[in-house]
Amino acid sequence: MTRRFALIIDPVDASEERADFAETFTVVDAAAPALSVGELSTQRGDGVFESIGVVDGHAQEVIPHLERLANSARLCDLPVPHQEQWRQAVAVAASECPAGESVIKLILSRGVEHGPTPTAWVTAAPASDFTKVRQVGIKVVTLDRGYGLDVAERAPWLLLGAKTLSYAVNMAALREAHRRGADDAIFLSSDGFVLEAPTASLILRFGDRFTTPAPTGGILHGTTQLSVYEHLAENGLDAGYDRIPASDLPRADAAWLVSSVRLAAPITTIDDVDVPVDHALTSELNHYLLSPRD
Ligand code: PLP
Repeated sequence: MTRRFALIIDPVDASEERADFAETFTVVDAAAPALSVGELSTQRGDGVFESIGVVDGHAQEVIPHLERLANSARLCDLPVPHQEQWRQAVAVAASECPAGESVIKLILSRGVEHGPTPTAWVTAAPASDFTKVRQVGIKVVTLDRGYGLDVAERAPWLLLGAKTLSYAVNMAALREAHRRGADDAIFLSSDGFVLEAPTASLILRFGDRFTTPAPTGGILHGTTQLSVYEHLAENGLDAGYDRIPASDLPRADAAWLVSSVRLAAPITTIDDVDVPVDHALTSELNHYLLSPRD
């Protein structure tokens, strides 16, 4: 492929009955300007997105990503995407991806200021090389998210369960983690519970039980975490959702940050406290995550 690929979607109503959406796609030069300066995605971060991992041309877990995109759109009062239209757009982008790992991004923006419709586009690009991170692991620090665990219920306008384009806070948290000598961060609620990382879900193992914070609205429900849980269940392992106090972190027997493109990154330290790394399981999990998944 050219290094990058981009396609603009003319979004149709979610109820439209049509088999082929090819004529609603316009392939554009990914290296050339394509958006209006009035775009609300760039002016205000007003929109939602998804990042899908692609392995050897196979886009992973497309339907769970499209379902989360629709959920994010609903939470943001954006028109709900037509699932089949977006599925076909992802298929076109995936067909442009070469062997190896790529990333497809889906963006649904509020549109141009005072304009009538949302703007939507899909891109494909080579993924960064995470081979070393998956093997060696990452150091993380905990950071206060500044909200209590019940905030999603109390203040739904904060859009915490939506994957919005407003990631400036998440990026600032990563920079703070780097300043503290770590690779990544785990957000804690202000009442002391474990949430998620700025761009990943957290999975912990205590003894024989795998656990992750319950996605009750304050965090994103990760497609990779769901996929890992299916895999663990198939192998007869106990995996569930819990309210996890931050004070439990130092006694974790293993921990991972998981996300669609980086996949399973084993955590080696949390706030400078060593966490045991289960190399065999980590490599098995990444092997599974790199296999075609639907
Ligand atoms: N939580 C946040 C805040 C994220 O940004 C992401 C991914 O970007 C995730 C969790 C993990 O989601 P997924 O596994 O679907 O990539």
